[in-house]
Amino acid sequence: MTLSSSTQRGALLILNSGSSSVKLTVFRVEPRGEQIAPLFSGQLTGIGTDAQLSVKAATGERMANESWAERDTGSVPALLPDLLAWVEAHLPADLPLLAAGHRVVHGGADLRHPAMITEHLLGELETLIPLAPLHQPQNLAAIKVLADSRSDLPQVACFDTAFHHTQPRTATTYALPRHLTDAGIRRYGFHGLSYEYIARHLEEHLPQLASGRVVVAHLGNGSSLCALNRGASTDTSMGFSVLEGVPMGTRTGNLDPGILLYLMRKFEMDADALEHLLYHQSGLLGVSGVSNDMRVLLSRDDEASREAVDLFCIRTAKEICSLACSMGGIDALVFTAGIGEHSAEIRARICSHLKWVGIELNKDLNEDNAERISSPASLPVHVIPTNEELMIARHTVDLLTMRNAA
Ligand code: AMP
Repeated sequence: MTLSSSTQRGALLILNSGSSSVKLTVFRVEPRGEQIAPLFSGQLTGIGTDAQLSVKAATGERMANESWAERDTGSVPALLPDLLAWVEAHLPADLPLLAAGHRVVHGGADLRHPAMITEHLLGELETLIPLAPLHQPQNLAAIKVLADSRSDLPQVACFDTAFHHTQPRTATTYALPRHLTDAGIRRYGFHGLSYEYIARHLEEHLPQLASGRVVVAHLGNGSSLCALNRGASTDTSMGFSVLEGVPMGTRTGNLDPGILLYLMRKFEMDADALEHLLYHQSGLLGVSGVSNDMRVLLSRDDEASREAVDLFCIRTAKEICSLACSMGGIDALVFTAGIGEHSAEIRARICSHLKWVGIELNKDLNEDNAERISSPASLPVHVIPTNEELMIARHTVDLLTMRNAA
């Protein structure tokens, strides 16, 4: 990407703020040459139990692995000024902090692009809290803390929903009465920054695939899949919330809504109890009774762990077929995120259900985590590491450049 000369040399702080952890990545920005490059990244985890800061430089050396338990009052926002101070103290003297970019889960029906944070935008994002009550408040709290402690620092919000705005109404509509659809009960889709990164990667490195119909499987602790048709999202497995689609680490994926009615009546479960069940006690953890971590399940030999893995693989394969159907076919499959990038076994097991579609892996390439892992006669299957932080950094630079040019 070429930056306008109006963009200064400096650093960008990219934050992904959750309920008990904050992920941070700092990029160096140069007006010329290699324009955006990572400097260091890490996370502040265990906030409220045993806060720990771990940070590694892009060169691999460890910069922090320290307890923050003494400063921890159980609140993520309360620790952010200290985190910002830590980051600024570790920036090279000639790289001032230029801006912060945030991952924000929900941009609603109207926010189709990343945006510079203003009071007005914050107000608009607050109205979306009921749509993502577990994630949106954490994202917005981080923005507010930075605005209070560094009002001079430009901030950019990048929405996980924005990339899916190209979808047709048949992909975004539930079969509900129209007035509910009009009230915002529709499919939004998430992981948009990851899919946008993959779409750009295909355009730059695999243009023959970028012009076709690609199913991208973002398989991590949260998992979803996306139908990319000529680089645009035309359908996705997550919908109104991050619960829809395939089973995840601790989330259910698709459920018959009749189950919720039954649980409410038979077990008198209220909204909070259902929320806990659907978001935190289900998925791989719920089925296995052991762990939400695919590595743990693959290392075990008990029936419940095997069943959790089998369920994940067949449901993911079925979703690939569903998205292929919505595009009228499939020209390539891409795996990304924690499980998609690192687990040859899960990729092999998912693809074993897709031989009839014309998908077959090359065993050695798959085990080597090669870029293309399919056999020569197969539809192309690729492993592409995602980089949502870089996507946010690019958007942040674009908006800074526009602002400086205005
Ligand atoms: P993410 O949410 O994209 O960071 O992915 C995190 C998840 O990836 C973890 O919970 C693990 O289940 C999974 N994962 C990471 N590495 C491996 C691996 N080598 N094999 C299987 N699963 C993995």
